[in-house]
Amino acid sequence: MAPRKLAAGNWKMNGDLAALAEIDSLCGTHGNASCDILICPPAVLIHAMKERVGDHAIAIGGQDCHAKPSGAHTGDISAAQLKDAGASHVILGHSERRADHGETDADVAQKASAAFDAGLVAVICVGETEAERDAGQTLDVIGRQLSGSVPQAAHAGNCVIAYEPVWAIGTGRTPTNDQIAEVHAFMRNKLAAAVADAADISLLYGGSVKPANASEIFSIAHVDGALVGGASLKASDFGAIISAL
Ligand code: PEP
Repeated sequence: MAPRKLAAGNWKMNGDLAALAEIDSLCGTHGNASCDILICPPAVLIHAMKERVGDHAIAIGGQDCHAKPSGAHTGDISAAQLKDAGASHVILGHSERRADHGETDADVAQKASAAFDAGLVAVICVGETEAERDAGQTLDVIGRQLSGSVPQAAHAGNCVIAYEPVWAIGTGRTPTNDQIAEVHAFMRNKLAAAVADAADISLLYGGSVKPANASEIFSIAHVDGALVGGASLKASDFGAIISAL
């Protein structure tokens, strides 16, 4: 088996019911694409988006979940609740959650375990800050985040890893092809030490992916797809990225 190709969209805190028209458009043009497609809208849109997608091959995901299955956690959402609403995936450890909510690697690992227990695929994000890259610490940071955030129960069927340099998210800046290749090869090797089928885990690149640079990024070894923020909001842009994969 080879890693599955995946184009994943992260709508972040954007979109409303009217924005689901973008999904209709995506279903019309890419509902039977040769790669896997995932859209992660705000949690309040998951159920409606799932209904809109119907039988088209587009998966829906959450952007976070709580580590506990239920209980007194006001404002939080469990993995099982995401699943019940129609999600099959959940993004975990996004740098915005790590920065804005103080999420640690241990938090991310606990959430990923909860996602596995609920039958969700965890899309676990890792990535260095610009200061860490400038200090030559990129591979140390990625290695530490992988060790701390990816539970032992991870395998190619329940886990996707997204390399998202923090400085490339929403900035229009991207690493060089060599920099992406170095990190992705490192991640593949690092995972192989811990996970039996690491060769089959999909490794996504994320950070300012757009129609103009998608083909080039997808040609890099061990890049099996993309996690896309801004360019996933418009079906025309996201569709062009899907076509490039
Ligand atoms: C992201 O937030 O996961 C992301 C990759 O954002 P953007 O594509 O907008 O850089």
